[in-house]
Amino acid sequence: MARKMVDCRDMPSEMGCTLTIAGEEDEVVRAAVMHAVDVHGHSDTPEFRDQIRGSLKEEEGSERQGRGARQEEGTARQ
Ligand SMILES: [Zn+2]
Repeated sequence: MARKMVDCRDMPSEMGCTLTIAGEEDEVVRAAVMHAVDVHGHSDTPEFRDQIRGSLKEEEGSERQGRGARQEEGTARQ
């Protein structure tokens, strides 16, 4: 399953938070809501959860980089 990520740097924030949360969609939404309530003073509402869900991005790079690294290892052994 494709992992999703939310990057606090994409959110308008006065505190310059640089947190990135990545994982499966439900995990990211839950963690991001907790973080936003705890650190950014948001309220945990269904509307806010929808807003976070809408701002999720596909996690970039990690899967492809992982495969590439394994391929290189295999090539080196041959
Ligand atoms: Zn934050």
